[in-house]
Amino acid sequence: MHEYKGIPILRNSRRKTIGIYVSGNGNFEVRCPVGCPDAEIVRFVNSQNAWIERHRQNRITESERLSVDELKRLGEESLREIAPRVRYFAERMQVRVRKVTFKVMKSRWGSCSSDGNISLNILLMLAPVKVRDAIVVHELSHRIYMNHSRDFYALCEKHFPEYRECEKWLHIHSREILSRVYQ
Ligand SMILES: [Zn+2]
Repeated sequence: MHEYKGIPILRNSRRKTIGIYVSGNGNFEVRCPVGCPDAEIVRFVNSQNAWIERHRQNRITESERLSVDELKRLGEESLREIAPRVRYFAERMQVRVRKVTFKVMKSRWGSCSSDGNISLNILLMLAPVKVRDAIVVHELSHRIYMNHSRDFYALCEKHFPEYRECEKWLHIHSREILSRVYQ
């Protein structure tokens, strides 16, 4: 047996145990001792279904990864599309903002410092328009509450009634979007 469920089986005389790995090109491979019986490989691979599924979901292909040019374009678009939304909501919410910076962030969509500097992730351009607005309102609400209290969320919802729905969307899709830049 050279493969099972599309996963290549690599037999190696120096191996003592059986294991499954993600190879350098992002594909799975099973490594096992030379004399490992097929039935044992089948049993082993089937016992790893949950692990395989988890890694399959995390894995992104080269074509999904954003190039430098694409990131540059998203940066330009976010200045054009999101910056005016910050001004719009800041005025409606009557909060003052010092500086708005757009950048690629690894694990968050935005941040707001206590002195009023707001950072927003340019990858928001890959999210629906209302989700971008929700994040803008979130960061602006930090101009009033520097926490994630009940009052804070009430304020978010007051200025953006679809806020909860957007948070749910991000909860589901964040990892998939953020992983287009970082593995
Ligand atoms: Zn926050």
